Amino acid sequence: MSYPLLRVHLDVMECNINRIISKFAEYGISVWAVTKGLSCPLELARMLSETKVTALADSRIMNIRRMKQDGIKVPFALIRIPMHSEIEDVIALADYSLVSDMGTLELMSRECESQKKEHSVLIMADMGDLREGFWPDEAEAIAAGLKKLSPALKIAGIGVNFGCASGVLPSRESMERFVSFGEKIEAELGRKLEIFSGGATTRSLIAIDSGLFPKRINNLRIGEGYLLGSDKSSGVTVPWLRQDTMELEAELVEVRRKPTKPIGEIGRDAFGNVPYFEDRGNRLRGILAIGKQDVNIGGLTPLDDGVEIITASSDHLLVDIEDCQQRHKVGDILRFSLDYTAMLSSSTSPYVTKIYER
Ligand SMILES: *Cc1c(COP(=O)(O)O)cnc(C)c1O
Repeated sequence: MSYPLLRVHLDVMECNINRIISKFAEYGISVWAVTKGLSCPLELARMLSETKVTALADSRIMNIRRMKQDGIKVPFALIRIPMHSEIEDVIALADYSLVSDMGTLELMSRECESQKKEHSVLIMADMGDLREGFWPDEAEAIAAGLKKLSPALKIAGIGVNFGCASGVLPSRESMERFVSFGEKIEAELGRKLEIFSGGATTRSLIAIDSGLFPKRINNLRIGEGYLLGSDKSSGVTVPWLRQDTMELEAELVEVRRKPTKPIGEIGRDAFGNVPYFEDRGNRLRGILAIGKQDVNIGGLTPLDDGVEIITASSDHLLVDIEDCQQRHKVGDILRFSLDYTAMLSSSTSPYVTKIYER
């Protein structure tokens, strides 16, 4: 086995996504499974394509291309608003995209015409998180612009995102304003919109039973919820989902008793910070062959009891193992759970081996 190793339990994720699908179904809400948090491995995409999710959603057109080339047959959604430079690929490869710019919509409309291909878009509204989205009071002007587009570019509905850029949480009130944005566009277009996509994991899973969503919300795009069983913006784990979806394993390359207080004058560390270490006397410490090139260390939590993270550099993670029951030695493997940032970084790092178990 080659370390560091990210061990992903696809069976646990499958259990999570199925619970989410059936919970949301009670409210008439469909699920798009978002794959970007784990860098969209095909093993995950294949598993998801066998569930009742209504689309696989990723932020990179490159990943949508890989999934299609693999022969996965489900609708694909691009969830990062498209670059002008990728519109040809977006129309060719994706079924849905999220859009927040009239110029981009016009280019997409022309590209649909020239490829003789249909493509669906969700018009994004910014309800306060200040990432992507039209301003909700622009509904009339937006509808006027939409009327000029090719019928091949289908206006499938509207979407909103929370919790990503500014940490803004959705509320019943902001959801109602979002719905009325969609209804204004409907009134202008003189027809109903199919999809009201009310957000991502942020607060959705924990507040769905307490009436967060008005009736018209009929879709959510979920990543973190099934990938980690948590909702980081709300700072909680979701009680009806599992959190043991993955762990990161690293190998000890040195184990030695050393002082806890560094010896000599303290300058800056490799990252420009002046570190401070409390004097706790001599303690047993280990060096793991994993570092900042592999994972965002701040997102790791030791799973072996008694292990404490001291600090890390590019390729080394120092741990205090004085309080471990087990006497660890060089060559032993220590395990860590991951938060969203650690999942994102380790799944992206080419230095981390990935195993997908089912
Ligand atoms: C990342 C993302 C999601 C999924 O977010 P999670 O918090 O992982 O559920 C949904 N929609 C958009 C637009 C995103 O960028």
